[in-house]
Amino acid sequence: MAQSSIEWTEMTWNPTTGCSKVSQGCKYCYAEVMSKRLHAMGLDKYKDNFKVRTHESALKTPFTWKKPKIVFVNSMSDLFHPEVPLSFIKKVFEVMNENNQHIFQVLTKRGGRLYELHEELNWTPNIWMGVSVESQDVENRIEFLRKINAKTKFLSLEPLIGPLPNLNLENIDWVIVGGESGRRPRPIKVDWVVDIKNQCKKSKVAFFFKQWGGTNKKKSGRSLNGRTYSEMPKIKGTIAA
Ligand code: SF4
Repeated sequence: MAQSSIEWTEMTWNPTTGCSKVSQGCKYCYAEVMSKRLHAMGLDKYKDNFKVRTHESALKTPFTWKKPKIVFVNSMSDLFHPEVPLSFIKKVFEVMNENNQHIFQVLTKRGGRLYELHEELNWTPNIWMGVSVESQDVENRIEFLRKINAKTKFLSLEPLIGPLPNLNLENIDWVIVGGESGRRPRPIKVDWVVDIKNQCKKSKVAFFFKQWGGTNKKKSGRSLNGRTYSEMPKIKGTIAA
């Protein structure tokens, strides 16, 4: 596990690594770039570079954390990738179920597989489930998310590469928006972000604006119309202290 610089979480935990591209949002995948770097540095966990791998030893890690944390699961992979066996996904869920003093944020671009498997999994309230949606082409991922048994559901609209004027936010608790960063970022428009913020307000959904992105994301910052938006969803159910 590692401290995270991602604004909406505290730590990352990667029981699986590796992935493959599934839509336009994956074009400049950060996990792929980082995997190549860690592979070149000789890290054993990345010896197969960006191929999908499960790591049994990582399943022990959450049991060692002393203080309650907010944890982004699989910043370097997608837990619902078709090459991650259901038996391993169940093990990851068992670890999250047993460590209910922590909040685990799971994010996928495989909404169809999430829906297919969700009844096999134990959705304790400390597991927040989200889908990534970068444009209208993949908005159907939200329909899969809406139907599953997770208690807290969220959208990561990053890298936002098109407008999303007709979001159905029924049953959604949290929306994160961000622009693409890196060497060749695709542009985000202020109007798209303001429109999503207004849709969240209308539907009483927590809104988190992560970043404008661009080639210098520190400089472009995360201020929208003169203020920052860092709302978080209300915690549901019982989470042990
Ligand atoms: S789903 Fe995520 S981790 Fe996988 S290739 Fe796409 S952006 Fe990268």
